[in-house]
Amino acid sequence: MHAELIAIGSELVLGEIVDTNSAHIARALRGIGLSVERSTTIADDLPKITALMREACARTPIVITTGGLGPTVDDPTRAAVAAAFDRELDFHPELWRQIKERFGRFGRIPGDNNRQQAFIPAGGTPVENPVGTAPAFWVEHTAAYGDGVIISLPGVPREMEHLLQARVLPYLRERFNLTGVIKARVLRTIGIGESNIDALIGELEKLTNPTVGLNAHAGNVDIRITATAESEADADALIAPVEAQVRAALADHIYGQNGETIDQVVGRALQARGYRLGIAESGAAGQLNARLAVLPMAADVYAGAAPLGTDEDLALAAERIRASQQAHVGVALRVYQGAGPMDPRGLELAISDSTGTDTQRSGYGGPPASLPLWSSTLILNLLWRRLR
Ligand code: ATP
Ligand code: MG
Repeated sequence: MHAELIAIGSELVLGEIVDTNSAHIARALRGIGLSVERSTTIADDLPKITALMREACARTPIVITTGGLGPTVDDPTRAAVAAAFDRELDFHPELWRQIKERFGRFGRIPGDNNRQQAFIPAGGTPVENPVGTAPAFWVEHTAAYGDGVIISLPGVPREMEHLLQARVLPYLRERFNLTGVIKARVLRTIGIGESNIDALIGELEKLTNPTVGLNAHAGNVDIRITATAESEADADALIAPVEAQVRAALADHIYGQNGETIDQVVGRALQARGYRLGIAESGAAGQLNARLAVLPMAADVYAGAAPLGTDEDLALAAERIRASQQAHVGVALRVYQGAGPMDPRGLELAISDSTGTDTQRSGYGGPPASLPLWSSTLILNLLWRRLR
C-alpha cells in the first residue's frame, strides 16, 4: 500500500527552509509497511493546494500533509481540505477550549485568529496537539478506490513528529489493517566507485524483494537493501542472504552499516588499539582535523593538527608529527588545488606508524568545492585499511 505526502509552505518552495518533514514521515511510514509513492512541496496558495489534494486523494488512499495549520489567513490547509471535499469548516468547542487552556498555561489569552484553529472540515476527526497550538485532523473520504484518508499535521517538526508517532501511525495501522513492515539495511563502502560496485553486484540490483540500490557520496557509496514483509523477523530473513552476497562481493570495502560513519569506525579502531593520531596538513581546509576533533573519543585518540611546511617532505613530516606529538600514527597531507580550472587537483600524503611510512599521490577530477571532503575521506579510508 502507498501513501503520498504534501509539504505546504511558500518558504519550502522558495528554498528558505528544507523540507525535512517529508523525509521523516517517509521513514516512519516504512515501519508500518507503507511506502511513499509521491511527495510534493507547494506554496501557500489555496486553489492550487485544493487541486493538488483532490488529485492526490483520487490516486492514493493515504495522503499526509504538513504545514499551513497556523492561525493566520495565509495558513491555507484547513480551508483547502474543506474545499477539496466540498465540505464546510465546523467549529469544535473542545479544540477551542484546549487552545485557550494551552495559552492560559503560559499566562496568555489567544486572539480571534487562534480561534480559526478550532475549525476543521465537516466530518473530520480532530487530533489534539499537546505540544503546540495548531490542532491536527484527518478526513476520511471515498475518493481513492472508495476508501481513503487525508491527514493534516502541523509544519513545526517537533509537533509533527509527536502527532505522527502518538496518533497517526497507530490510526493507520488499525484503519488500513497494516500488518507489514519495510525494513532497510545500509552497507557502507569506501575506496570503490559506484560503477565498480555495479559491475560486482548488478544482478542483485534487479531483485524485487528485497531491493538493492546504490547511493554515492564524495568518496563512499552506500548499498541499501530494503525488504517488505509481514514482520521485522521476516524482513530480516529476506535481507540476510542478499546481505551475505553483497558482503562476499565487497568484503574489502564495507566499513560499516546503517548510520555508522568512516570517521567513527576509524576513531573506534584507534581507541581499541590505544593509538593516538597526529596530522600535519596544508591546503586541506582543516577538513580532516574538523572530522576527527568532533569524535566522542577525540580526547583519547587525536593529538591534533600542525601546519605543514611549504616544501617539507611528506614522509619526514609524518615521522616528525608522530614523534613530536607522541602519536602512534602520523599523517602528513598536502592538497593541491591547481590555479586554473584545467590544472591537476589532488592529494599527496604520507602515513607513518611503527611498521613504516607509506606515501601516496591521488588525482582528483570532481567539483573543486568537494576536494577537501574527498581528500579527508580518502585518508580515513587509508587509515581504516591500515588499522584493520
Ligand atoms: P504553527 O501554527 O504551529 O506554526 P503550521 O502548521 O502553521 O504550524 P507552518 O507555519 O507551515 O506550520 O510552519 C511552521 C514552521 O515549521 C516553519 O517556519 C518551519 O520552520 C517549520 N516547517 C514547516 N514545514 C516544514 C517542513 N516540511 N520541513 C521542515 N520544517 C518545516
Ligand atoms: Mg504557521
